Formats: sequence, structure tokens, C-alpha cells
Amino acid sequence: MRTGITHLFIPGPTNVPDPVRMAMNVPMQDQRAPDFGALQLGLIADLRPVFGTRDAAVMLFPGSGTAAWEAALTNTLSPGDRVLMARHGQFSTLWVDMAQRMGLDVDVVDLDWGEGVPTEAFAARLAADREHRIKGVFVTHNETATGVTSDVASVRAAMDAVRHPAMLYVDGVSSIGSIPFRMDDWGVDLAITGSQKGLMCPAGLGILAASARALEAAKTATGRRCYLDFGDMLRMNADGYFPYTPPTQILHGMRVALDRIRAEGIENVYARHARLAEGVRRGVFAWGLKPAAARPDLFSDTVTAIRVPETVDAREVIRVGYARYNTSFGSGLARLAGKVFRIGHLGDLNEGMVLTALAVAELSLHAAGARVEFGAGVAAAQAHFAGTAETARLAAE
Ligand code: PLP
Repeated sequence: MRTGITHLFIPGPTNVPDPVRMAMNVPMQDQRAPDFGALQLGLIADLRPVFGTRDAAVMLFPGSGTAAWEAALTNTLSPGDRVLMARHGQFSTLWVDMAQRMGLDVDVVDLDWGEGVPTEAFAARLAADREHRIKGVFVTHNETATGVTSDVASVRAAMDAVRHPAMLYVDGVSSIGSIPFRMDDWGVDLAITGSQKGLMCPAGLGILAASARALEAAKTATGRRCYLDFGDMLRMNADGYFPYTPPTQILHGMRVALDRIRAEGIENVYARHARLAEGVRRGVFAWGLKPAAARPDLFSDTVTAIRVPETVDAREVIRVGYARYNTSFGSGLARLAGKVFRIGHLGDLNEGMVLTALAVAELSLHAAGARVEFGAGVAAAQAHFAGTAETARLAAE
């Protein structure tokens, strides 16, 4: 018998705020009714600032982030097209895998897991590509497996420096809606996310924003697609409708989630994530542990992958957290299994929740054999929050 709430500190799906959950408790409705289209038109308009774009085409595909990846690839590229990608964590690895399975000619830069996008290696390849065979450059903005945020702007700058015409594809699944994402400023052509992370909804939508260039490319690209076709989607989207049955409940949830983001202010959302993430990291350092991210400038403000001591199995930390303390931490994926556990700190989150995560992590680390001083991580985060709360209060006055 489990009592109390089950704490969810995985990097997605994230906690769905009660008003969002309640907004989804609506009767089924006719997705072709005259007043239905306004719902999606409003979502598209309000998603644009979250993507950091004024006029990119935003599309909501039933599915998850992976569906949006597939839509981006198949609509804008043709089999045999060369693309430039890096592998530095499980999600960037999966993206390479998908591109290869789609018949793209993938030029892969392999890095240690914990590194960020290799801007210099990309720059060298782009400079060498005088015939402009590379059609797409791919960045995993926030590698959720390692807790690494990469510098998208630097990749755009490298492309511009040699006037390379490839399109820029960015996976923002665990960044968009939580940390700054500036599609227009960074010259991103295809930006991708899902409904279940920073957007605080259940999984069920793969959301994608496409630049004018991406839409132009879709007119001639021969990648095979049907369900995820931009053309079908955009034709129906013009009036707010879908080419097939949409998950209407999630759309209602998304309405409230976007209202909440607007009420908080997107820049305040970013500042909150930065503050909470720093609290988590201070806790980790106070335990004498380290994040998997290779350097501080790569630390993610949405997820921290925590390396456990070599004598400890991170799977045991996660098992204890769940079995004894009703708390879910993220697991170490693929080659990081057993080596890290992850604390997701994105979406509908506050200081009290972070302190709970740290307190339960201390208990779980202890039970798994790590030597942590009880309260050390919690105290370090509290000290940070006490200081930043005061700063935030003074700034608001
Ligand atoms: N990309 C990143 C960075 C992710 O974190 C995830 C999922 O966690 C995905 C892609 C895949 O998204 P989904 O699980 O929504 O299909």
C-alpha cells in the first residue's frame, strides 16, 4: 500500500499541473465542428513565442517527440542526402539511427557522452564541403541522457561563417518551454519538441516549428511520408483543423499550459529553471558527486545526470527511491546504465519539490552504499534558494 503522492523527478513526462489535468476532463467533441478550429489556431499562435519564433509554421502531430523528428526528416530531406550529426548521448544517438534508417547519408561525429555539440568539428566539415553536399546540420539542444545543453547559436555562426546553405535542425524536446530557445535568432529551420516536458502536458503530441526555407524544401523532398506530411497538415491547419482525428483532450490541456506559461512570463519560466537547476547542482556537489556533463558551461537547467561513486550501482539508487520512498528518478540510459541517475527539474516545479528530490536522493544514495551526509545536499540547495529568492524579490519590487 503506497500512501501520499508519488514524486516524479524524471525528465519527462513531467508533472502536469492540476488546472491542466482538469482542463482535459471534457466530453468528446466533434473535431470538425465550426468552433473547433479556433482552439488549435490559438495554440499555434501561443506556441510561437515558446519556440522563439514570430512566424514559423507550428504543427502539432499526434505522437511524441520522435514523431516530430520523423516528420522533420521525411518532409525536408530525400534518401541519399548527406546530413551532419553528432553522437554524445542516447537521444543524439537515436536521431542518427533514425536518419540512417531513413536512407540518409549520415556524417557522424562521435564524442564522449557528457560533451556538447562539436561546433569546431562541424565548422571544419562545413568549410570542407565546398560543393554543399551537406543538406542538414543537426543539434540536440539538450541531451537528456547526460544533462548537457549545447550552444545552438555557435553552430549557426559556424554555418554562416562559410555561408553554408544547409538547414539547421534542432531537437528541443527537453529544452523548449523550459530554457531559452530562440528559433529565429539562431536561424533554426526545424525545431522539435513533445507535449510532455516543458509544456507540462501528457505525452501525445510531437510539436514542430518549420521555417519558410523548411517549408520550401518540403515541396521537393522525396522522403516517404503520409501521416506526418507537412502539406496535409498545413492545408487543414489553415483553419485550425487536422487531417485526421486529433487528441482533443491534450489540446485542451495545452491551452491551459500555455496560459500558465504566459501568465508566469516566458523569461520568468527560464529564470525559474535556472534557479532550481542550480539548487540541484549545489546539492550534488555537496554530496561530493559530479554531473555527467563534462564542463559547467554544458550543465543543463532541465535535467542533471549524477555520476554515482564507482562502488555504487545507480540502478539501486533508483530502485530504493521508487520502492521505499514513492519517488521516481531518471535512469542511466544505454552505456550510462548503473553509472548515473537523473533528476529531472523541468516543467511545473518549485523549490519545495527540488528539496524533496534531494532529500529522497540522499536516502536512496545512502541505502545504495554511497557515503553522503544527510542534509548536505538539501542544505546547499536551501542556501542557494534563500539567496536567490531574496534577489528575485528585490528585482520584483
Ligand atoms: N529527444 C530528446 C532530447 C529527448 O529527451 C526525448 C525523450 O525523452 C526524445 C528526443 C524522444 O522524445 P519522445 O519520447 O517524446 O518521442
